[in-house]
Amino acid sequence: MSIPSAPRDRDFIPVSRPFMWGKEAEYVNQAISEGWVSSRGRMVDAFERGFAEALGVEYAVGVCNGTAAVHLALAALGIKAGDEVIVPDFCMIAPALAILYCGATPVAVDVDETWNMAPALIEEHITERTRAILVVHNYGHPARMDEIADLARRRGLYLVEDTAEALGATVNGQQAGTFGDVASFSFYANKVITTGEGGMVVTRRADLFERLRWKRDLCFGKDEETRYTHAEVGFNYRLTNLQAAVGVAQLEHLDEAIASKVAVARRYDEALRDLPGLTLPPEAAWAKNVYWVYGVLVEPEFGVPRALLQEQLLARGIETRRFFTPLHEQPIVPPQGGASDYPRSAHLAEHGLYLPSSVGMQAAAVERVAETLHALRRQHGGASA
Ligand SMILES: *Cc1c(COP(=O)(O)O)cnc(C)c1O
Repeated sequence: MSIPSAPRDRDFIPVSRPFMWGKEAEYVNQAISEGWVSSRGRMVDAFERGFAEALGVEYAVGVCNGTAAVHLALAALGIKAGDEVIVPDFCMIAPALAILYCGATPVAVDVDETWNMAPALIEEHITERTRAILVVHNYGHPARMDEIADLARRRGLYLVEDTAEALGATVNGQQAGTFGDVASFSFYANKVITTGEGGMVVTRRADLFERLRWKRDLCFGKDEETRYTHAEVGFNYRLTNLQAAVGVAQLEHLDEAIASKVAVARRYDEALRDLPGLTLPPEAAWAKNVYWVYGVLVEPEFGVPRALLQEQLLARGIETRRFFTPLHEQPIVPPQGGASDYPRSAHLAEHGLYLPSSVGMQAAAVERVAETLHALRRQHGGASA
């Protein structure tokens, strides 16, 4: 069998492309030659241990993707039908899906100036059915976790962090993903580190660690006698040793991957700062943003509507994506109000656009995107730029 080679356009700048640091193939080959290709093996062990160490938490459990990770986190906490879980109105759909998988109800809260769940708005959404707060750190900027953790503690709620977009982000120096009972991560191709598909759940709680491992692997009985007796509904959410081999190689360069994202963002900041009508991504004084993607808001003052801008950029070989559609507009989420109830989230959804921002993206590519934005505004938009 021959596999056709992929077409390649050297000038095209995709919104994201995975970056391989060099040892990935070697470690995958090791896993293959040792015969450990499924979900047991030393690559899985090394990846889990290395990831826990990188975050400074006790326990990490590798899983098959980031959606499974957040579902497993909620399931391990016992979130069930009839429960309510608080989430930001503006976020990627996976956390809301995870709540729905549990039979529970997502309750959406508007975001603040960091594009994350607004701590001040959470309390009014808490009812007697609320069991957990599921924070989602959007686009690499962490949510205000010190305040949210205080609130969760005060109200006796579980705290879960979907940290898929914010590996390496910090709040007052503390890493996102270490504030709550449990946190989830994704290693999809566009994330800060990738295993192709893959995810991780981390916790400091030994009891939760046991439950996470157990539910990840079908809830097999714990000894030979009870092995095939399943006391709870489990899942096959296992990470393979092959994926973990890629993860081990990626993890060796975690700091560089984060530094690369931040460097791309700083270049964009510099080159776009003077462009009127373009709101650049936030970075609060208390936060470190890892800029998973470099998102901007194309305000009316920019003069070029977002859709036209995307089209014109694409015609020049530059791919972009609009921001997520908020939960209050999702047909699968029970109705919770309209745009006037979620003004900030609605504004992000209407105006947000993210620019190419891969790990390893070269300065020249960032410059080209920025120059093209300047040129398009001169051509189609406001009088001067
Ligand atoms: C990417 C992402 C996920 C899902 O990860 P997959 O590995 O694609 O399943 C979950 N939550 C957030 C916030 C994400 O950005």
